Amino acid sequence: MHRKKLIAGNWKMNKTASDGVVLTRELIAALGRETSVDVVLCPPFTALESVGRALEGHALKLGAQNMHAEKSGAFTGEISAEMLRGLFVTHVILGHSERRTYNAETDASINQKVLAALAHQLKPILCVGETLAERESGATLAVVQRHVERGLQGVTPEQMGACIIAYEPVWAIGTGKVATTAQAQEVHAFIRELLTKLYGAPLAQKVRILYGGSMKPANAPELLAAPDIDGGLIGGAALEAKSFIELVRAAAAR
Ligand code: PEP
Repeated sequence: MHRKKLIAGNWKMNKTASDGVVLTRELIAALGRETSVDVVLCPPFTALESVGRALEGHALKLGAQNMHAEKSGAFTGEISAEMLRGLFVTHVILGHSERRTYNAETDASINQKVLAALAHQLKPILCVGETLAERESGATLAVVQRHVERGLQGVTPEQMGACIIAYEPVWAIGTGKVATTAQAQEVHAFIRELLTKLYGAPLAQKVRILYGGSMKPANAPELLAAPDIDGGLIGGAALEAKSFIELVRAAAAR
């Protein structure tokens, strides 16, 4: 089954609105006509509008890094799905391990966000993955299974078509330690098997499963060649045009 590769850049808490536009223009100049790979830029909330304007008329898509599950109300400092839609956001990263760790996000709260995103036609990029201690104790697959099953609870087969999963081993995020292709492929294949049980093979074969964790131009070609790795969720290497462009080109070459 051919799945179009997807490369998403998670800028985290980096780039002002104007720095974001500078980077976006560099990316558009190189990738504006790249249609063989889906490219999603996920700037901080404060840069969504300006980056979105810079992307107008181009194939690159706009994503957010988080959102609140409620529609509106007394949630100081929060942003709703409707607000994101108003800025022409199409994707939203949910359940990133940094938010699980620093913002006490749980599988249950992430699941509420996934459902709210889907109800507002936003494509969730659901992040799942084990810590180093969990890997070392042999719990990797059990943790990933829990993140996937609980994160997707109540998601209908029709909605599943809009979902993207990102396998991000926590020990590989921002550490320079990348999972070996064999380690990543094992978990990706496991996730696809799980999706097959939950949603049936035809749908599971369509869902894109991204790898995230110190993906760089040097290691991307091998990772992206694995049968169940359908792209990357990129942190550090998404902050520089050169490395991000090289990653998109590596995905286009597959
Ligand atoms: C991430 O935060 O999603 C990520 C994968 O970061 P990095 O590429 O820097 O490891």
